[in-house]
Amino acid sequence: MGTDCLFCRIVAGEIPATIVRETATTLAFRDIDPKAPTHVLVIPKEHYADVVTLAEGDPGLAGELLATAAVVAEEEGLTTDGFRLMFNTGPWGGQEVFHVHAHLLGGAPLGPMLCR
Ligand code: 5GP
Ligand code: ZN
Repeated sequence: MGTDCLFCRIVAGEIPATIVRETATTLAFRDIDPKAPTHVLVIPKEHYADVVTLAEGDPGLAGELLATAAVVAEEEGLTTDGFRLMFNTGPWGGQEVFHVHAHLLGGAPLGPMLCR
């Protein structure tokens, strides 16, 4: 993917981010507008638009993304009290950045999954 993808530009180092973990294939960095005390985005370095194209295109990489999210959850001290890991997908899912990313949220009780 080229320079028009925000998260590809973060992977390329063209846009700064607070990186908390990097592997050969994944990157985890703090959300610029955190919705919880801990809010980390976990992405594959390779561009996939959403979790469906990632899972279909490279399920192994999807597993590596989950493994990175789990390590970050441990490092951020979230595993005892719990946390939320979610992929907003498509317009109804509220996805705004079309480079697949898992939101890792925790650090306080997160309340119900959805507001009604
Ligand atoms: P989405 O709505 O696509 O699931 O989530 C996109 C997330 O990316 C939002 O939580 C938003 O705050 C975050 N975000 C948008 N632009 C930037 C940026 O330039 N840097 C970082 N670190 N996060 C960003
Ligand atoms: Zn991208």
